[in-house]
Amino acid sequence: MDIERHIKSIIEQIDPDSSRLEKTPSRVAKVCKDSFSGYGLDISNVVDKFYDSPMDDLIILKNIRFESYCEHHLVPMIGTASVGYVPQGKIVGASKLARIVDCFARRMQLQERMTMEIAHALESVLDVKWVGAYLEAEHFCISRRGVKKQESKFVTRYFCGTLKNDLNLRREFLESVREN
Ligand SMILES: [Zn+2]
Repeated sequence: MDIERHIKSIIEQIDPDSSRLEKTPSRVAKVCKDSFSGYGLDISNVVDKFYDSPMDDLIILKNIRFESYCEHHLVPMIGTASVGYVPQGKIVGASKLARIVDCFARRMQLQERMTMEIAHALESVLDVKWVGAYLEAEHFCISRRGVKKQESKFVTRYFCGTLKNDLNLRREFLESVREN
């Protein structure tokens, strides 16, 4: 496997005595496969069941833990995502909201783009009036290297749907997802 071969070469360049790490490249390749399994997934296959519902108010799944990798440094960004929406006629199972987050987290990412992708993905498969996504994460490239700001969290939020600019919905959503 190509990734395995390249990892082996990287290890050899870092560690002059890498002979004891014989099995590491294949393990790392497996980790890579899992960590970046979000590529090529079709969101309409991931979210493929819908239920009729008269519910017409805000539905939120909050604190969905995710692990992703910053595409600038390939170091972890670990945090939580909260996804909310206002349906019109149909809803999805709550676990599907978590699956959407995973789809986009398991890639090399920018948190800003990931936030938008999550919201647009839900909007693309379900007829909704409003979608909100709120992410907060520790970026190892900020907390563990460079400026080493260990307590800092990067916060992004994004809204879409026909009611995108509804300030009350934004406020309610943000109040709900911030309280812990
Ligand atoms: Zn970074």
